[in-house]
Amino acid sequence: MPDSNFQFEEDEEKAQLETRVKALEIDLRQKKEIILAQHTKLEAFFESSIDALVQMDFDGHITGWNKQAEKIFGWSAEQILDQKIEDTIIPVRYRTAHQKGMKRFLETGETSVMNNLIEIHALHRDGHEFPVELSVSVMDSPDLQEFNAYIRDISERKHAETVIWNQTNFDSLTSLPNRNLFLQKLEHEIRSCDRSNQSLALLYLDVDRFKDVNDSLGHDIGDLLLIEISSRLKKTVREIDTVSRLSGDEFTIILGNIDDQLSVQPVCQELLDALAEPFQLENEKVFLTASIGVTFYPQDSKKIESLQRNADQAMYAAKAEGSNRYNFFTPELQQRALRKRRMIRDLREAIDEAQFEIYYQPIIDLKRNFLNKAEALLRWHHPVSGLVSPAVFIPIAEETGLISEIGSWVFYTAIEQANRWRCELNKDFQISINTSPLQWIDDAAAMSQWFKHLRESGISGQAMTVEITEGLLMDARDKITNRLLDFSDAEIQVSIDDFGTGYSSLSYLKQFDIDYLKIDQSFVRNLDHDKNDLALCDAIIVMAQKLGIKVIAEGVETENQDRLLKSFGCDFGQGYLYSRPVPAADFEKLLSQWNAKDMSGLKKSSA
Ligand code: C2E
Ligand code: CA
Ligand code: CA
Repeated sequence: MPDSNFQFEEDEEKAQLETRVKALEIDLRQKKEIILAQHTKLEAFFESSIDALVQMDFDGHITGWNKQAEKIFGWSAEQILDQKIEDTIIPVRYRTAHQKGMKRFLETGETSVMNNLIEIHALHRDGHEFPVELSVSVMDSPDLQEFNAYIRDISERKHAETVIWNQTNFDSLTSLPNRNLFLQKLEHEIRSCDRSNQSLALLYLDVDRFKDVNDSLGHDIGDLLLIEISSRLKKTVREIDTVSRLSGDEFTIILGNIDDQLSVQPVCQELLDALAEPFQLENEKVFLTASIGVTFYPQDSKKIESLQRNADQAMYAAKAEGSNRYNFFTPELQQRALRKRRMIRDLREAIDEAQFEIYYQPIIDLKRNFLNKAEALLRWHHPVSGLVSPAVFIPIAEETGLISEIGSWVFYTAIEQANRWRCELNKDFQISINTSPLQWIDDAAAMSQWFKHLRESGISGQAMTVEITEGLLMDARDKITNRLLDFSDAEIQVSIDDFGTGYSSLSYLKQFDIDYLKIDQSFVRNLDHDKNDLALCDAIIVMAQKLGIKVIAEGVETENQDRLLKSFGCDFGQGYLYSRPVPAADFEKLLSQWNAKDMSGLKKSSA
């Protein structure tokens, strides 16, 4: 019994032991499974990382290499494991630096790459380099000494950055630096001048009448032309000089290392000469000129903004002096520009401040000795400078676009005045206003408003004549033809002003519906003593009459001129002989006196 009893206990113990072993085994298996799962997870993480993961021991042998690493470096794990990284993925030129860095790390624990994100180039198996972003961490424990490098291929991002950089710094049409890069280069050149104690010249170059070429030949040819211009400019200057395109047909050139300002003159001339050579574009031969403004650093200014302004002013001065030339900046130019800027500022306020007034100058019907026309001539009462001549402020109003507003003010004021005088003094009275080409070319909307005003106010268009220059008809023919028809519909007559100073083509005038031709003062002035001008006036009058166009002689100052003009059969005369331009109130008196034929002091009978 005790035996059997003992036997029983032994069995019991064995069974318990077995159960415990089993439980332990299960536990162990489970733990193993968990570890395995964790490992698989880690591996999956390792493999699926979007970064290449490269592990390496402290001797530089590669010990880990994931799928992404295979992809970006072109080496499989099998091929590369146990190789040294400085023999494989580090470009040759970085290898010495890498070895030094490793050595320092092993000796001192210091490192520059650790835990920082750095951009560097890596070497592909096929030998090409590519940009990567790299961060490295280190495991340094007694049983594991390892580097983990996370590497991302940033070729695409770098490429995109380059594209964007190019877009922000280069002009896409000509591939020249744009304004942005030009300014950076200028800054850079200025610093280098300071170091070397030398000067630089900044040139602004603007193609003359480029807009005309563009308008007449089309934008595609215009683009070709700009490309060709760019290449000629580049060829003319030295490699170290920078040609940029600021906008449209505006270029800048930075000439560095200048010892002598005079040495810039031949360069400017060469640039002009280079552009003067005809351009053969598809089937078109194009002739061009340009205007150049030059300023020097540090002589003219040390500030970038002032240098730009100087060169711009000098360029405009070159244009004003007739284009196709270069001009050096001078302080006097700056004074002039300053005065001009003030005038622009004041001109903006002139309408609102009611500083404009229209003077009227009689236009005499020479055959009837009758006054029923006047030219409206604008006057500006400047609060400080006094009376400013339209010859001074009209060009500035044109340049700044203010002419549109001013021109409309003149129209509305003059038409009201004409209407009043028609009602009160003479039902056929007519006022002639001057218009700028810009109003015709760019300001269709304003002119449409004029016609609308006439329709709504019931004022007859016959109360008005508009004066235009010959040039307008020649240069912008298509735009003008339709607009002239609008005027004709509105019963507003049209005069050609300053006739004889431009193209003077009478046959050309035939194509347009022109009512009056104003012979320019310069011919009338010489009538007494210049046979050519005499013959010319005579011819203009005869031919105009054949075309059914009435002639007005401007600038009649002497009795003799008046007599000669009448003998040629000239229709109208205007000038100081009859009256200077005068304010409306004075003109009113003049008008009633003249037509009442009680003008003293003036011979009124025809010669
Ligand atoms: P314009 O149209 O040729 O006007 C004639 C100019 O000759 C006027 O100068 C007039 O005062 C002047 N004049 C008239 N008779 C004689 C004379 O016998 N001898 C001399 N030496 N000169 C005479 P003003 O008023 O100074 O105007 C100058 C120019 O300004 C005008 O030349 C015209 O082109 C422009 N202008 C005047 N008012 C306007 C305007 O409202 N709009 C536009 N766009 N231009 C205007
Ligand atoms: Ca005029
Ligand atoms: Ca005139």
